[in-house]
Amino acid sequence: MSLRLGAPRRAKVPKGEDYDVVIVGGGPAGLSAAIYTTRFLLSTLVVSKDIGGQLNLTNWIDDYPGMGGLEASKLVEAFRSHAEMFGAKIVSGVEVTSIDRTSDGRFRITGSRGLDVTASAVILAVGSQRRKLRVPGEDRLAGRGVSYCSVCDAPLFKGKDAVVVVGGGDAAFEGAVLLSGYVKKVYLVHRRRGFRAKPYLVEEAKSRGNIEFVLDSVVKEIKGSDRVEGVVVVNRVTGEERELKVDGIFIEIGNEPPREFFEKIGLKVDSDGYVIVDEFMRTSIEGIFAAGDCTTMWKGFRQVITAASMGAVAAYSAYNYLAEKGLLRKKS
Ligand SMILES: Cc1cc2nc3c(=O)[nH]c(=O)nc-3n(C[C@H](O)[C@H](O)[C@H](O)COP(=O)(O)OP(=O)(O)OC[C@H]3O[C@@H](n4cnc5c(N)ncnc54)[C@H](O)[C@@H]3O)c2cc1C
Repeated sequence: MSLRLGAPRRAKVPKGEDYDVVIVGGGPAGLSAAIYTTRFLLSTLVVSKDIGGQLNLTNWIDDYPGMGGLEASKLVEAFRSHAEMFGAKIVSGVEVTSIDRTSDGRFRITGSRGLDVTASAVILAVGSQRRKLRVPGEDRLAGRGVSYCSVCDAPLFKGKDAVVVVGGGDAAFEGAVLLSGYVKKVYLVHRRRGFRAKPYLVEEAKSRGNIEFVLDSVVKEIKGSDRVEGVVVVNRVTGEERELKVDGIFIEIGNEPPREFFEKIGLKVDSDGYVIVDEFMRTSIEGIFAAGDCTTMWKGFRQVITAASMGAVAAYSAYNYLAEKGLLRKKS
């Protein structure tokens, strides 16, 4: 597993403290929101499981304006230090498990490692988590040949005979290209013939001599006693079944939002589990805002720039909410 920037920093977990805004999530949306809330002079706590979110799953960011060809970890560090420069307190390695309204209309935020704080407003920037195949063998062999992060785990397969990569988006193609440098053969299994991946990534994969495309096909089972030994795929058109003898499988079929977390808080979500927001990033609960990949905003286009933009708007809206409610503290 990767030992990158996203690894939790064991700062002291706050208990009994009160903030203007608590931001849940330390990815691009949450850190961008923190830059703006602190610029609005709001006392701000960012609580997150890790710092950087999905940026920890890729090596390079080529499309963030003004920063072409940047290492993803450097962008994370730039976001983090920028937020801290203006006074945001950032605590990672903590999972927020509940957000409840208090009797005075504020919010109590609790979570792992004893987190227990209050805030006048909350910004949820919890992103999304890796989607599973939900096939036999997947959970049993997780971490023993089943991986959800090619970028993190590809080097562990150096010199192996073959692996499967599942998916048709950017992450799957980035993974297949990367893995083709480590293993002798890569099978790219995709349920359709067309790909969502950026065309240049598709061209790059096609130019590699050791990537075989297994299209119109889905994974039926992952086999192996102690480690992955094979993957059974079925052609959706012909019904033909085939077992690929491989040492690993990289599941890169996208992400899904934490629906249960939102429902526990009482937030309205859409049919896919994304938290419903308006153009000011307001959720169905007054005082709770949301930003980034976890929201219904710009659902078909998930990028650092869109997440960061939503974070900025959520911060602006949180400030306006506190001003309208007369909740802004007097600064000495
Ligand atoms: C392989 C890959 C390559 C990509 N390449 C690019 C690219 O080239 N260019 C680009 O612009 N975008 C790219 N993206 C997309 C980009 O990374 C995302 O759109 C962006 O990170 C979304 O930001 P976010 O803050 O909304 O969510 P995330 O990055 O998912 O961050 C969410 C944060 O919330 C935290 N969290 C979740 N639940 C809790 C909880 N209950 N308590 C505490 N913390 C919690 C997580 O730990 C995480 O830190 C890529 C994504 C992947 C996976």
